[in-house]
Amino acid sequence: MFKALMVNKDAETGKTSAAVEEIGIDRLPAGNVTVAVEYSTVNYKDGLCIGPGGGLVRAYPHVPGIDFAGTVEASDDARYAPGDKVVLTGWRVGEVHWGGYAQKARVKADWLVPLPDGLDTRQAMAVGTAGFTAMLAVMALEDHGIKDGPVLVTGAAGGVGSVASAILAKLGYDVAGVTGRPETADYLRSLGVTQIVERGEINETVKRPLEAEAWGGCVDAVGGPMLARVLGQMQYGASVAAVGLAGGAGLPATVIPFLLRGVNLLGIDSVMQPYDNRLRAWTRIARDLPMDKLEAMIHPAVLSDLPDLGAAILKGQVQGRVVVDVNA
Ligand code: NDP
Repeated sequence: MFKALMVNKDAETGKTSAAVEEIGIDRLPAGNVTVAVEYSTVNYKDGLCIGPGGGLVRAYPHVPGIDFAGTVEASDDARYAPGDKVVLTGWRVGEVHWGGYAQKARVKADWLVPLPDGLDTRQAMAVGTAGFTAMLAVMALEDHGIKDGPVLVTGAAGGVGSVASAILAKLGYDVAGVTGRPETADYLRSLGVTQIVERGEINETVKRPLEAEAWGGCVDAVGGPMLARVLGQMQYGASVAAVGLAGGAGLPATVIPFLLRGVNLLGIDSVMQPYDNRLRAWTRIARDLPMDKLEAMIHPAVLSDLPDLGAAILKGQVQGRVVVDVNA
């Protein structure tokens, strides 16, 4: 028997509820690798899946947790043997397939990545899906060329924003962080952010499609009116890596920044990344993310904290990265 955060749906009311339960290994879904999970994290999608599902969860009862790191316990696949340390992000684990909010998970070998040297399972989950996505965003900006001038990170105090800020600062870029929480300024500076931009300054409906060229690149975790506004502030030929929609799914923008400034809008999807890209990103994380800064981002949690934390992340109230010790 092992512990899992189980989300059940009441057949009559249609309401969901989440609670820690003890379940048997026979209940795990099919897969060729069984992992003794050590850590998972809290991401925006987890908030949705702990609650009513938001269209992500297909069947109940459900174990959320879109990422995890742990040790292989059993494997039918030649690539993994018992004792191997592994990390998982994406592939709709925690949404369609049972995820990491449990002491055991059974998944397809194709979805795993061996933990790179230099990262332990706790650090890997301090990075988690948010940090992995931040690395993908930085890699996409690099592929398209980061221009002179500060690199803007929106939603800077959140998970994606915190890791993106720390990586960009370590790589030597001048990082400007947009936050709606002025009390996080010291935290953001500790990550290497040199310019704090108040959310209200930038989170307005576009009035002029082009403004002064300000940013040499942007990692955007917010979307909505903020992304629309930022597009008109990019330097000529600069790129925005669009990661999230914490501020809305609409994009009330014009085509002018694309036509007159050659701005690139790069979509970042962490879910369906091929194995080689995932391995490249995790290897870069182990190399380019300062581990002391990662420590400053961590908020520890246990399985029973998850219902409250899921609600908090949906309200934009989580700072940095929540690391869930599933065995505590
Ligand atoms: P967090 O909640 O940790 O961070 C989001 C941050 O955005 C908040 O901390 C807040 O930052 C800011 N924010 C929240 N609401 C608003 C708002 N209404 N207007 C402006 N800013 C707002 O989430 P994550 O960092 O984990 O994820 C960010 C986004 O990225 C989510 O939409 C998530 O779904 C998406 N995502 C996408 C992935 C992909 O593969 N493309 C993978 C992982 C995440 P502050 O307080 O500093 O203003």
